[in-house]
Amino acid sequence: MKTSIATVSISGDLREKLAAIAAAGFDGVEIFENDFLAFDGTPAEVGRMVRDHGLEITLFQPFRDFEGMPEPQRARAFDRAERKFDLMAELGTDLMLVCSNVSPVSLGGIDRAAADFRELGVRAAKRGLRVGYEALAWGRHVSDHRDAWEIVRRADHPNIGVILDSFHTLARRIDPDTIRAIPGDRIFIVQLADAPRIDMDLLYWSRHFRNMPGQGDLPVVDFMRAVAATGYDGPLSLEIFNDQFRGGSPKSISIDGRRSLVYLMDQVARHEPAIAIDVPSIPDRIQVEGIEFVEFAADEQEAEELGGLFETMGFAATARHRNKDVTLYRQGGINLVVNTERDGFAHSSYIVHGTSAYAIGLRVADAAATVERARALGAEIFEQRRGPGELAIPAIRGVGGGVIYFIDRLTARVWDVEFEALPSSPDADAGLIGIDHIAQTMNYEEMLTWILFYTSIFRTRKSPMVDVVDPSGLVRSQVIESADGALRLTLNGAENRRTLAGHFIAETFGSSVQHLAFSTGDIFETAARFRERGFVPLKIPPNYFDDVEARFGLDPALTERLRAFDIFYDRDEAGEFFQFYSENFNEGFFFEIVERRGPYAGYGAPNAPFRIAAQKRSTRPSGLPKG
Ligand code: MG
Ligand code: MG
Repeated sequence: MKTSIATVSISGDLREKLAAIAAAGFDGVEIFENDFLAFDGTPAEVGRMVRDHGLEITLFQPFRDFEGMPEPQRARAFDRAERKFDLMAELGTDLMLVCSNVSPVSLGGIDRAAADFRELGVRAAKRGLRVGYEALAWGRHVSDHRDAWEIVRRADHPNIGVILDSFHTLARRIDPDTIRAIPGDRIFIVQLADAPRIDMDLLYWSRHFRNMPGQGDLPVVDFMRAVAATGYDGPLSLEIFNDQFRGGSPKSISIDGRRSLVYLMDQVARHEPAIAIDVPSIPDRIQVEGIEFVEFAADEQEAEELGGLFETMGFAATARHRNKDVTLYRQGGINLVVNTERDGFAHSSYIVHGTSAYAIGLRVADAAATVERARALGAEIFEQRRGPGELAIPAIRGVGGGVIYFIDRLTARVWDVEFEALPSSPDADAGLIGIDHIAQTMNYEEMLTWILFYTSIFRTRKSPMVDVVDPSGLVRSQVIESADGALRLTLNGAENRRTLAGHFIAETFGSSVQHLAFSTGDIFETAARFRERGFVPLKIPPNYFDDVEARFGLDPALTERLRAFDIFYDRDEAGEFFQFYSENFNEGFFFEIVERRGPYAGYGAPNAPFRIAAQKRSTRPSGLPKG
């Protein structure tokens, strides 16, 4: 698999772009004419710079308004083409992209266009160059790859081929299977882009909202399966026009790009086992079996406050690490680890973010295979020096620089091996069963990165993005979950620091886990036991309950119980949902307790604005009970 990316897809000056692209493992780049305009060097120098980075130039583009012109525009178009051929020779590339004509004076006619391309092919052949023809979704006469291919077929010249671009085909909902009729050796390059499904002008959509395969909603896998069936084995080139990427980090956008292509071809190879596809064989997407633990980094004082809060929720300190300042709190299937070590990664995480949930442990069938897949997809492996007798638990870096550990059969005994049991506390337990979901907060610009990270490594699906209204601005929220609910993540993207989510990011210097939601089988029983233990829930404004009673036609007796324990309510076709919250611990971290009755599929999103408003009103600095 040969991978390429258009330099316009990422930010930075040309040198920064090339360095980031090469470091991410790409083989080549598409060069846009604009790259010269902003760069004070000759095309030959640009070509040299590209090759110095170990990259090749897979394509020069774009050449516009060529085919089907009347005279005198036709002659001028050929003159322009000759000048671009000069430039390509200097640059050191042999392939030029001609996109379908958008000029109002162009005449149309498949044979006329074919004749123009035949002549262009003759001229290109003299210089050893090739020309590919791409149907723009908004082309004046040609806007469909089937017509572009028919023109190429009739041009009947070996130096003229077709260029396929997933955006142009899929944005117009053209059946990608029609590509299977094109001979693979007549496809000169394949450009890839995804996009969120938005109903808008095609040109505007394409220029501003494209994203990496797997980040949007278009069936790019089906498109690529059809391409693979033709026998095409040339470069797969990302051509992504996205305002956010142009303002983002060249390094991380390049890594995302490379990840998207590896993931895409991995899916294609699995769907098309009969086709020989040149793609590294890696373990399939990893099924997460559950969340084994969440680990907090803290100093002694805050560890004590946090432990106190855990105890009001029915947790008990059940074990101490044999050689570290680490305590395990347990209830039901939930393991919370509090690390107050003065060195190691937990400590540096504490120094940067303050007290925070910096690591999560996921249960998988095979941790080594998980890390192998993550590594192939460009994830950063996490390693740290182990103390005597400690198990090697494979891990990678996650959102906000946090750590994701993978626990399998070999390391499941970590609690017995590394920890020593503390005397039991028989009265602890408030009926919590497990971790329902983890909410991670990030800057809005990073959301696509982490959506691709989670969906490409793990067997998960993403829900459509929803907007959550914060009194100070919008927060975007997207759910990543496994089909059986063993892994549920809600990702929140903050657009400004005045929102609760944005404040959390700013104050914790980019920590990611903003809340943990625990599940219970009986929310009223759990809330009552919490109260006995001194837990102070987030206070819900009384108007909420009148509204929810009217909205769902609730029995007033139920509303009364909700009100008594500050419990939010929601319902969908499948079931009911109950939730209540702790007050904030430190800078906006909190806990949530949920009960799902029936296969309710959501996360109480309609309640989020009420919850956020209540949190903003609550001025107490921590979630601790008084006294
Ligand atoms: Mg294109
Ligand atoms: Mg939640």
